[in-house]
Amino acid sequence: MSEKVNILGVKVDKINVEQASDKIMEFVDSTNCVRSVFTPNSEIIMMAYRDPEFCKLLNSSDILTADGIGVVYASKIVKNPIGERAAGYDIACRTLEKLSEKGGTLYLFGSKPGVAETAGANIMKKYPGVKVVGYSDGYFNEEKEKTIIANINRYAPDLLFVCLGAPKQEKWIAAHKAELKAKVCLGIGGSIDVFAGTVKRAPEFFTKHGIEWLYRLLKQPSRFVRMLDLPRFGFKVLLKGRSFPQ
Ligand code: UDP
Repeated sequence: MSEKVNILGVKVDKINVEQASDKIMEFVDSTNCVRSVFTPNSEIIMMAYRDPEFCKLLNSSDILTADGIGVVYASKIVKNPIGERAAGYDIACRTLEKLSEKGGTLYLFGSKPGVAETAGANIMKKYPGVKVVGYSDGYFNEEKEKTIIANINRYAPDLLFVCLGAPKQEKWIAAHKAELKAKVCLGIGGSIDVFAGTVKRAPEFFTKHGIEWLYRLLKQPSRFVRMLDLPRFGFKVLLKGRSFPQ
């Protein structure tokens, strides 16, 4: 069995939350170059299917995990199954647990002004060995961006959470990786909102039955248009998925 599954061109690592967080901690301990972690769901894979440059960008990351039950189903359809999903927020939590044991630093970048500060306070309460060294909201112009990068580099954190939504966060990390001094950059969507408590994760009922998308749609009906990509993703994988080399 290969270590990756090729879903419409995106080569997703067949690893679970535990393995992903172990790998991130290895990077924290050993790395002398900046690593990146992305967690594509069906919508992100559809973006990559339409945009070869974005697909290349995703495939150049150090870890790419399956965030969403749609990606797990797709891996079964292409007959190279992933055991379980490894969602960005879950990877973040498990990694923070491990970082807390040895002591380490985190920088939070993304979400609306003030949200990262609340998230940081909650994180330091729950993971006392983690020091949140800096915060930047995710709404910036070019000038503010320079200040954000300088600030991140001043603290050179072990982990940098970049939560700008997809594909903005993946593109931002890829564009700035060379000038960043963080050890591992994780592009993990709405995770800062969840750590802050401003957005709730779907209750277990929805995740267990593979209908987390329905919960998110009920909570944020404005997601409807982008969610049309979910059935499109299913059809594309059924029609073309097996023509991609595994
Ligand atoms: N966001 C941001 N800057 C932007 C656009 C979005 O910081 O220019 C934040 C937004 O406030 C939210 C997160 O990015 O906290 C996107 O969350 P979402 O759940 O939509 O992530 P996705 O599902 O796209 O990964």
